[in-house]
Amino acid sequence: MAIASITERLEILADAAKYDASCASSGTAKRHSRDGKGIGSTQGMGICHAYAPDGRCISLLKVLLTNHCIFDCHYCVNRKSSNVRRARFTPKEVVDLTLSFYRRNYIEGLFLSSGIVKSSSHTMEQMIEVARSLREDHGFRGYIHLKTIPEADPALIEQAGLWADRVSINVELPTDAGLARLAPDKDSQQIEGAIGRIGDAIVEAKDARTRFRHAPRFAPAGQSTQMIVGADDANDSQIIGRANRLYDRYRLRRVYYSAFSPIPDASAVLPLKRPPLMREHRLYQSDWLIRFYGFSVTEVQQAADEGGMLPLDIDPKLAWALRHREDFPVDVNRGSREMLLRVPGLGTRAVDAILRARRHQRLRLDDLGRLTRSVTKLRPFVTTADWRPTLLIDRLDLRHRLAPPRQMELFG
Ligand code: SF4
Repeated sequence: MAIASITERLEILADAAKYDASCASSGTAKRHSRDGKGIGSTQGMGICHAYAPDGRCISLLKVLLTNHCIFDCHYCVNRKSSNVRRARFTPKEVVDLTLSFYRRNYIEGLFLSSGIVKSSSHTMEQMIEVARSLREDHGFRGYIHLKTIPEADPALIEQAGLWADRVSINVELPTDAGLARLAPDKDSQQIEGAIGRIGDAIVEAKDARTRFRHAPRFAPAGQSTQMIVGADDANDSQIIGRANRLYDRYRLRRVYYSAFSPIPDASAVLPLKRPPLMREHRLYQSDWLIRFYGFSVTEVQQAADEGGMLPLDIDPKLAWALRHREDFPVDVNRGSREMLLRVPGLGTRAVDAILRARRHQRLRLDDLGRLTRSVTKLRPFVTTADWRPTLLIDRLDLRHRLAPPRQMELFG
């Protein structure tokens, strides 16, 4: 069979990469080539947008080295039993594509993943060669995110961190049982072991750089992971718990949630329908509550129903507040930052603005209106100089009054 052209292979391998949501070019070291040395920048524009099937916009040249794979993960379009068109790039071809797209200002960097060919270590070597060549042979200073393969030789995974801004290893599924059922070739201990080693290497490299200015960087944008939501029967409470353990143990930069989307030629063990996209959104909101709003995992889990699922029609902070009405109303003029962050409708910026403003004046409801999108949501939960919710907080129909009009079809 004739070898497909670069364009045909790019079509296949960029399409095959779109299911991975764990790429974002934030948080890395600032580098540029304005001094005439090298090429690229982690700060500049020039982004190609890849669109996931659900419409999310994802930047970077996001491509697989190959979609051949010796593994058979049921949820993956590239699994060995899948009947898709296969293609493969050489490392040099990916390097050339990246440089040419970068020069044309199409992209800001590269997100490289791969199916597994021959062996995990062989595949990892090829991916590292792409990153090495971009950095060493071409002085590429743009962003590189390498998806690493947990089954590869640990020494190779460590090399990946020396060339890439960010590395990631997908934990894939929220529970070990789900992984064993849907990804029989993968092992959750091996995955977490590899994530742990990368985490240690990131900490060591940061520490070394505080003592030696020229110590090598190691994945300066940290590591991330992705969990597929809705492919197995894990509930939101389990997912939140798993994500939090990962943050705590391995200091991950991000846990991405990817609502399972049915793939072409899907395995019969997968659900036929994808979960509502709103479920993924609620998980991200719960993630933020823990990372930026001071909620504990248990508190966020309390926002879920008896089946462990977060409500889809209201956000988890509002769900939590409705179950803890005894903690409200919060006096906006005297309440602690911690309690203000728990008020539905108040974001971190609004809370900081309140703390600044109340040093000079007693705040009224109108003042809150200028700091938030709408006071309707927060009125039952606050007191101000001119407002007390009286019995509003105890109303049985409060949830109904605060839930937005049904627009679930938009996210279904
Ligand atoms: S190892 Fe990766 S590419 Fe291969 S089937 Fe599993 S998820 Fe897909």
